[in-house]
Amino acid sequence: MINACARPAGGGMMGGVTGGGKGLVLVVEDERPIADLVRMYLGRDGFGVHVEHDGPAGLAAARRLRPVACVLDIALPGLDGTEICRQLRAAGDWTPVIFLTARDDEVDRVVGLELGADDYVTKPFSPRELVARVKAVLRRTAGGPAEQERPRQVGPVVLDPARRSVVAAGAPVQLTSTEFDLLAHLMARPGRVFTREELLAAVWGYAAQAGTRTVDVHVAQVRAKLGAAASVIRTVRGVGYTADDA
Ligand code: CA
Repeated sequence: MINACARPAGGGMMGGVTGGGKGLVLVVEDERPIADLVRMYLGRDGFGVHVEHDGPAGLAAARRLRPVACVLDIALPGLDGTEICRQLRAAGDWTPVIFLTARDDEVDRVVGLELGADDYVTKPFSPRELVARVKAVLRRTAGGPAEQERPRQVGPVVLDPARRSVVAAGAPVQLTSTEFDLLAHLMARPGRVFTREELLAAVWGYAAQAGTRTVDVHVAQVRAKLGAAASVIRTVRGVGYTADDA
């Protein structure tokens, strides 16, 4: 359910709650008083704010609205905040994410599992502090969602997240959904070495019973389909994989 919606200035649809010259922040929080408070403070600071109260609606909104940042509660009905983040990252979406955590064990999950979270705030938190964190994250992360949707190139391979297409040395490459997500994840940060565990978590999800061997099998399949451009995915012995042009 849409509780409030406001787009950046000039973006058309205005919800009447907040203006949003600084861009749209998606807030997914099932505790309405907290969501209202966060919306109010972000709105005062010039952000547009869109609020959802459950996980599936939050994930859909993240994909539909392309916010400049997401504030995700962890314990949410339907789909928890970490899973929303994982699914965005698996699709090559690096929109900054700040988690709202309620307990120390949630902090451990966010920090320990390398979800690709940009920051977290522990409840109870000061709304001013959260706004400061959102602004800090936006300063640190260049580009924003438009950047993430932009086609990316590593060596002779061009991957277009918006079209979910891959071209290697000028020739289209047909990848399965999982193969695409795997390649997109690697190409989102060229040169960054991902462990098999990280890739498994990001692309397949923690619930997947697949072992790390699954990652090797899929990398082999992607390389086979890339043909002469296969070397774009480099094995880093004893660690994992990276996409680079070395
Ligand atoms: Ca909650």
